Formats: sequence, C-alpha cells, structure tokens
Amino acid sequence: MSTISEKLVTEFSSVESPEELLGQLIKRFGERAAIGTSGQLTGVAMIDLAIKAGVTPRVFTIDTLKLFPETYTYFETLESHYNIKIERIQPDPEKVQGMVKQHGEYLFFDSKAKQEFCCHVRKVEPNERVLNSVDVWFSGLRKDQSGFRKETPRLEIIHHGRDERPILKVAPMVDWTEADIRKYITDNNVPTHPLLEWEQDGWRYESLGCTICTTPMGPHEARRAGRWRWFNGQGDGDNKECGLHVSPKDKA
Ligand code: SF4
Repeated sequence: MSTISEKLVTEFSSVESPEELLGQLIKRFGERAAIGTSGQLTGVAMIDLAIKAGVTPRVFTIDTLKLFPETYTYFETLESHYNIKIERIQPDPEKVQGMVKQHGEYLFFDSKAKQEFCCHVRKVEPNERVLNSVDVWFSGLRKDQSGFRKETPRLEIIHHGRDERPILKVAPMVDWTEADIRKYITDNNVPTHPLLEWEQDGWRYESLGCTICTTPMGPHEARRAGRWRWFNGQGDGDNKECGLHVSPKDKA
C-alpha cells in the first residue's frame, strides 16, 4: 500500500526551507524521490540545495531529442560538477516515427492541437514513464513564471497512471522570484545553462525547451512569450504550457 497521502502535505507544510524540504524528503524516500529538470535555474538550484542538505538526489530530464546542443553539454557539466548521474528519459521511438510520418517533423507549427500532440509524445509520455518509479516529484515551478503557475501549490498530491497512484508533487521554491533564484545562483557559484546567460539588446532566454519552439523574449514581453512564439496573441497569453504540469482538473 502506498505511503503517499495528504498526511504528508500536512506533515511537510511547516518545513519552509527548500533545503530542508529536499533533504528530509530525499532521506526518507531515497530513489523514489526525484528532481525533474530541463536545465533551468530553479531545477539546478534544487540540485545544489539537495547536495548542501547532505543527500545525493536522483535527477531526471526529459530528452525530447529536440533540445539545444547547449542543453546536452550543460547536463554533462552538471554531472561532473555535482558528481551525479542525470537520467535522460526519451520518447518512444515508434511513437515519434508514427507521429512524424503522419503529421511531419514540424507539426507544431500547424495548430495548437498538433503542438500539444508533439509535446505529449515527446515530453508528457516519457515523463509519465519516469513517474512510474517515483513517489515524490520535485519540480522547479514558481508562481512568478506565468499567470497559470500563479496558483501552483508548494506541496500537492497528484494521481498517476491508470491506478491513480498518489504521488507527492513538490515545488520547493514556488514562492521564490526570478531575482531570488538569480541571487542564489550567483552567491553559490551554481553553473548555469549558457543560453540563460545570453543577452542581446534586451532580448534573452528565460524559459528553455526544444529548439525551434523556444526563442528569446523581448524586453517588454511576457515570460513565456518566447515559447511557441507563433501562437502569441491567440488567447493563451503567458500561459503556454507543454502539458507536463497540467493536471486533469486544469484541462476540464
Ligand atoms: S516543445 Fe516543440 S518540438 Fe518540443 S515537444 Fe513540444 S511541440 Fe514538440
């Protein structure tokens, strides 16, 4: 029987420090607790905090096979810097092949539905697969990232798979701002993704995903304006998501 229940949310809601939260949960759940990261600032800060808490975290990333070359190199940098292994979880090759055969390599330009289908095959399904071996999932979600994420809880129980197995989903730094994260990264010499350091005439990357679907954002644009740029102005505002962090209740 699963040990994951709402009682855990109550038990850990008083643990305010992200370092303690990561440390205590990883000590208790071991390999069943995992940090999911795409190499962005909050994910890497979580790895750093876990190491500072005295634990070696299990870390995974979803390798859509469409990431920036810099992202692949960056994961190697993190592995050697922290002496950890980052699990690369890839999509099912047959499903990718079938999708491309039917809709083309660049289907995500065609419509929101096709973009979501591509994200489902390349990101959501591999993520579901890794969650089969996880009881505690740490995400780098923060409230200041978009209107949609403003409501993100720090601790919540989600239900996974056909048997709706409960998983404790934790966003340890949900209340941190971009400035808080940047300060932590600088103060602690955390290695950062090179594209997150790039800037030209006020244009910069704040959110990273697959190549083509990720572009820099302009000085006055919303934080997720650079993601699937061709859909800007079509109603989602800054709430564009790939589906990884959308629960069934949000879709209803
Ligand atoms: S971000 Fe783009 S290429 Fe990557 S999975 Fe989503 S639609 Fe496909």
